[in-house]
Amino acid sequence: MEEKTSRVYKWLKGGKAYPFKVDLFLTNKCNLNCVFCNYPKKKPVKELDKKTIMSIAEESGRLGVKIIGILGGEPFTRKDVVIEFMAEIKKNGISGSIVTNGMLIDTEDIKKIIGMKWDLIRFSLDGSNSSIHDSLRGYKGSFDRVINVINHFNKLKEEFHANFPTIEINTVLCKKNLEDIENIIRLAHSLDIKRIYFLPMIEFVKGTNHLKIKKDDAKLVLNEIEKAEKIANTLGVSSNLDKIKQDYVFIKSNAIDA
Ligand code: SF4
Repeated sequence: MEEKTSRVYKWLKGGKAYPFKVDLFLTNKCNLNCVFCNYPKKKPVKELDKKTIMSIAEESGRLGVKIIGILGGEPFTRKDVVIEFMAEIKKNGISGSIVTNGMLIDTEDIKKIIGMKWDLIRFSLDGSNSSIHDSLRGYKGSFDRVINVINHFNKLKEEFHANFPTIEINTVLCKKNLEDIENIIRLAHSLDIKRIYFLPMIEFVKGTNHLKIKKDDAKLVLNEIEKAEKIANTLGVSSNLDKIKQDYVFIKSNAIDA
């Protein structure tokens, strides 16, 4: 935090202060078709070429950037560059995080990610079972696939005596999985995951209004979150549930109308 504050202070004083963190959206393509997501419905944008992407890691290192976050779309649809870019980030002394649905990661990728000591990988997981997760992610078998990839990471990390990458979960919270929060936390614990980040669903896509958590759901929301928090505390899984509770998930999820 001190480092961030001093950069902002320097900038306010008219000096040159380079970013602490850079987020790079590698692509807007995705191999899934999640019901609440507008990415698959967008026209593909012109993507940066490999040379430019690689130069971002080098330049960021030179400028003192501390963290690069890789986002999408699905970053692993850019198989031509994603792993090399991650390695270049690490080579330049920068911490890296990536968000993925996990579907396109194979054993070779996992070995390379562990080998380069990548810092953080966040998997999207929207339910504790295939019925909930697959229906929200729009792809049969996506639950089994992501769980297999996480298990594979854990197995290989153990085999290589590696502490990295840290594995976390992102969950898009909506009506369909609201009563599943507790089970998602139990599942995370069984996968040796210590942190879950919940994001309230925003209605970007027409026809998803029925999934939105609304004001009328307040009692149920608070009840489910409080139950889940107790389990999370017992199991040692941290989350942002407390913050969501305070912000009232239904206010945020209604902030944008399609
Ligand atoms: S995996 Fe991510 S980018 Fe792809 S459709 Fe789902 S939410 Fe959108």
